[in-house]
Amino acid sequence: MERFLYLLHHENDGSFADRALEGLAFAKALAAQVGGDLHVAVCGEQATKAAHNLAGASQQPILVVEGAEFAFPRFATDAAALTAICETAAPTVVLACSTTRMTRVLAAVACRCKGAIDTHITGVSVNGGQLSVQRWYYRQRIQAEQCRSKRPWFMLFEGGMAPAWQIQTGTVQIQKVECRLPADKIRTIVEGKRTPSGESQTIRPAANLLFVAGAGWTKKQSDGQTHPDQAASLIRTFLQLGGASLGSTKSLVDLKGEGQTVLPFLTHLNQVGQTGSTPRHPKGLATCCHGEEPHVVGWRFINERRAINLDANCGWAQGKADVLYVADAFAVLEEINKLLQE
Ligand SMILES: Cc1cc2nc3c(=O)[nH]c(=O)nc-3n(C[C@H](O)[C@H](O)[C@H](O)COP(=O)(O)OP(=O)(O)OC[C@H]3O[C@@H](n4cnc5c(N)ncnc54)[C@H](O)[C@@H]3O)c2cc1C
Repeated sequence: MERFLYLLHHENDGSFADRALEGLAFAKALAAQVGGDLHVAVCGEQATKAAHNLAGASQQPILVVEGAEFAFPRFATDAAALTAICETAAPTVVLACSTTRMTRVLAAVACRCKGAIDTHITGVSVNGGQLSVQRWYYRQRIQAEQCRSKRPWFMLFEGGMAPAWQIQTGTVQIQKVECRLPADKIRTIVEGKRTPSGESQTIRPAANLLFVAGAGWTKKQSDGQTHPDQAASLIRTFLQLGGASLGSTKSLVDLKGEGQTVLPFLTHLNQVGQTGSTPRHPKGLATCCHGEEPHVVGWRFINERRAINLDANCGWAQGKADVLYVADAFAVLEEINKLLQE
C-alpha cells in the first residue's frame, strides 16, 4: 500500500498558489483511487495559519514546518524543511506541484531521502495498484508513460492536472515538525522581492486567452508602409483591457535581435513554439502569424484556437485553427478594443 505525502508552501500573503491547489486536488483523488492515505504538509512563515485553510484535505494531521526563516524561497532552508517533513511522514510517494520554489528544491530533497524523482508530470494512472506517470519529451512531441520500483518516489506535477482544491477554513489537526538550522544554512539573505508592474507583465499563465503576435504586425501593409507604433498601441490596449497573456512567434522576437523596430514589450520569453514555450490557456488568438508547424506545436495545450490573417491559405487554414478570420488584424483589433472600452 502506498503512503502519499503532498507538499505545499504558502505564499507571503498566506494564500496558496493556484497550481499548488490543483496539485492537491489531484493528489487527493489519486490517493483515494489507490486506497492510500493522503498526508499533507505545509512549509512557510505562518504555515499553521495557512494550514487551517485546508480543512478536509487530509484525514491525518497536517504536518507543518514554520518560522521566519521559511518565509522566502531559499534552497538551504527549503531543502532542510521538506527533508524533515519527509523523514517524519515516511511516505512512499511524495507529490508536489511545480511552483518555482518546489521545482528548485525537490530533486535535492529526493536525493537526501535516497529516493527518485520525476518532473514535468502531466498525469498519473493506476493499473492493478501500480502507479505510472505520464510526461512529455522532445518539446511535447512524445508522450511517455513510465513507472518505478524505487521508493520514496517524488513526483513534481505540472499545473492544470485538476481543478483547484477549494479552500475550506475549519478545524485542522496540526503536527509540528522540528527543523533546526545552523547559522550557515541561513547566510543567504532575501532582502525583498521585485515584481514587474501589472502593465509590463505580459506573460500571464492564469489568463483565459493567449494572444499571439506574429511578424505580420511589423510588415508593410496595404499602404506600402510599416506601422509598428500603431501595432504596439493596439496590442498593448487589447492586453490591458482583456487581461490576455502575450505570446509571440520566433520571427517577431528575432527581428528585435536584428535591430529592427518591433513591439517594445516583447522578449524571447514570449516566444511560443518548438524552441519557445508551450503555454496552457483555454483559448488562443493568433494575429499576423502564419501558423507554421514549429510555432503551432507550442499550441498543444490551447483548447480553442482562432487566428486572424490576410492570407486564406496560411497555416491556420490547414486544420490548425478552429476559426480563421481572413481579415486585417489592425482593423479587427481596433474594433475589438472599441468594444472592450464600451
Ligand atoms: C528549428 C526551428 C525551430 C523553430 N521554432 C520556432 C518557435 O519556437 N516559435 C515560432 O514561432 N517559430 C519557430 N520557428 C520559425 C517558424 O518556422 C516560422 O518561421 C515563424 O513562426 C514565422 O513567424 P510569423 O508567422 O510571425 O511570420 P511570417 O511567416 O512572416 O507570417 C506573417 C503573417 O502575417 C500575416 N499578416 C501580415 N499583415 C497582416 C495583417 N494586417 N492582418 C493579418 N495578417 C497579416 C501574413 O499574411 C503572414 O501570414 C522555428 C523554425 C525552425 C527551423
